[in-house]
Amino acid sequence: MSDAEKIVIVGASLAGARAAEGAREAGFEGEIVLIGDEPERPYERPPLSKDYLRGEKDDLAWVHEESFYAEHDIDLRTSTFVSGIDPSAGTVLVEGGDPEPYDRLLLATGCEPRRIDIPGAELDGIHYLRSAGDSAELGERLREGIRLVVVGAGWIGSEVAASARQKGCEVILVEPQEVPLQSVLGTEVGGVYAEIHLEQGVDFKSGTGVEAFLGEGSVSKVRTTAGEIEADLVVVGVGAVPRTGLAEAAGLELNNGVPVDAGLRTEAEGIYAAGDITNQFHPFFNDRIRVEHWANARRQGFAAGRSMAGAEVIYDDLPYFFSDQYDVGMEYVGFASDWDEVVIRGSKENREFIAFWLKDGRIQAGMNVNIWDVSETIGELIKSKRQIDLVALADPDTDLATI
Ligand SMILES: Cc1cc2nc3c(=O)[nH]c(=O)nc-3n(C[C@H](O)[C@H](O)[C@H](O)COP(=O)(O)OP(=O)(O)OC[C@H]3O[C@@H](n4cnc5c(N)ncnc54)[C@H](O)[C@@H]3O)c2cc1C
Repeated sequence: MSDAEKIVIVGASLAGARAAEGAREAGFEGEIVLIGDEPERPYERPPLSKDYLRGEKDDLAWVHEESFYAEHDIDLRTSTFVSGIDPSAGTVLVEGGDPEPYDRLLLATGCEPRRIDIPGAELDGIHYLRSAGDSAELGERLREGIRLVVVGAGWIGSEVAASARQKGCEVILVEPQEVPLQSVLGTEVGGVYAEIHLEQGVDFKSGTGVEAFLGEGSVSKVRTTAGEIEADLVVVGVGAVPRTGLAEAAGLELNNGVPVDAGLRTEAEGIYAAGDITNQFHPFFNDRIRVEHWANARRQGFAAGRSMAGAEVIYDDLPYFFSDQYDVGMEYVGFASDWDEVVIRGSKENREFIAFWLKDGRIQAGMNVNIWDVSETIGELIKSKRQIDLVALADPDTDLATI
């Protein structure tokens, strides 16, 4: 067990809150201070582009019950911004407060939306989506009949487009690549999402870049590489960037986020990182990966808490994420940045299938669409690193577990 007496966590969201839980679970009895600049206690973000955005849920998806923090003696400080870290003094600098000493420090500062810097970017009516406040404000403006231009058909853009259609908005989805989600899913599987959006009445403009937002005070048109589009509202979903300002100011090495080892330790003594900001050495991939998804923040955060408490931790869970668009739900397990074959098991047309991405005959990642309870088996196939019989893999009548 660690001899640390005080853990300070910066970033009171999913990774941070789960780290506090993990530290207590591992038996840490010292002080835990969990600091975040948002006004709410830690909540989960996935509903912010789904049912919460559509106004179907009033309450946020809290990471823990309100009573959890007091019950576990966790000093949660919301609406509190951390402006710096002094590793040599072992303190974090809290805006408007005294420096907070730590024995172990966790950086769980997450990501922020990537901004696009084009003319008109400051006009009213141009939205980004990260926080509960962003979602509430956008949801309020997504009224039936308005023309919404969504810039970027990644996960957030695609989900916002779906939610806006479900709310009766006219939706134009603008994407420089050929199909939605192309960089993660490739053209074949991304093409399924293009069809789904088209069927649902989204005007999907592929191969189209955005050059400027036009309007007097508020946005009324978007100038694209394919011409001008009328717009009452715009949502920009062009990716997220890790919030590494604190780490950088503290002199930590940066490399696509904050590099950590399998125990979630940075190169600086006593400083750990978890969640969207980490670029972790992952033992299974024998490489660094940075994952911007819910399950990673949830599990890796918990693991970081245990690690800070002195437990032996090797975080090697496979990446997992999910998305819901209209009545199409999916889960994705693994990590495929490069593949030479895509195998489809089931029916793309009926939207009930599993897609596998393979390299050299081995499964790198699998995605089940409207088929459930298979992620664990897919994970085992990936972990086995076995050469897979492609005919059996593509055959829905062959039990996945026997392949
Ligand atoms: C709209 C939306 C929908 C999503 N949907 C899905 C989904 O369907 N499936 C999925 O797998 N993933 C989804 N994600 C991704 C998932 O929510 C993130 O991976 C997860 O939130 C990362 O958690 P985190 O704790 O690492 O970071 P974050 O949730 O970004 O939290 C970081 C926290 O640190 C705070 N902070 C930063 N700097 C400071 C500072 N200096 N001082 C104080 N506080 C600070 C931030 O305000 C924030 O509260 C979605 C994300 C968004 C935005």
